[in-house]
Amino acid sequence: MAQTLDDLPPRAALVEIARDFHARGWMSGTAGNLSAREDDNHFWITASGRPKGRLDELDFLLVRVQDGEVVERVRPENKPSAETAIHRTLYTLFPNARACLHGHSVDACLAADRAKQGAKLLRLAPIEMLKGFDVWQQNPKVDLPLFENVLDVARIADDIRKRFAKTAPAVTALMVRSHGPTVWGASLQEAYNRFEILEFILRYQARSRR
Ligand SMILES: [Zn+2]
Repeated sequence: MAQTLDDLPPRAALVEIARDFHARGWMSGTAGNLSAREDDNHFWITASGRPKGRLDELDFLLVRVQDGEVVERVRPENKPSAETAIHRTLYTLFPNARACLHGHSVDACLAADRAKQGAKLLRLAPIEMLKGFDVWQQNPKVDLPLFENVLDVARIADDIRKRFAKTAPAVTALMVRSHGPTVWGASLQEAYNRFEILEFILRYQARSRR
């Protein structure tokens, strides 16, 4: 077994993550999308509409960061997900990001429902697990950026771009209400670890009485 996800070729690593997230209920059916940078200018992303528990290395597209152009489809019928725009926005904003993982989870939605309507931030519980986001303070006040879920994904991507261009997020993660979290990292393994940690924190918040 590879020591870390970064010891695998990017598509093999993403296949492993998809099966893992599917088994844990974070990528049910065809939900969610995963990407990893191939080089500074391109990233591999999962094709739209593929069952995430049965993904293989052919279920990918290579997309150019600069303009979203698909430069390789692996299978000719592979279609990019509409949510590719969100990945592209994050790779453009954060040149250090090497991987970007988006899932749909019940606990994340329940935790986000506790934020007031229109709130742009969700305070994360100051539990030990926050250290996984490199937060090393006593009782830290750390907020997860919250975005509204609208049908037009390009608009969500635009909201993300505008807000993060002004204010960098406190964590390498964001949440779209009634939808799911997106987490990015300086490596595939870091993105994976942080997705797991965010899920843990949001699960805790969803279950806590307040
Ligand atoms: Zn989604």
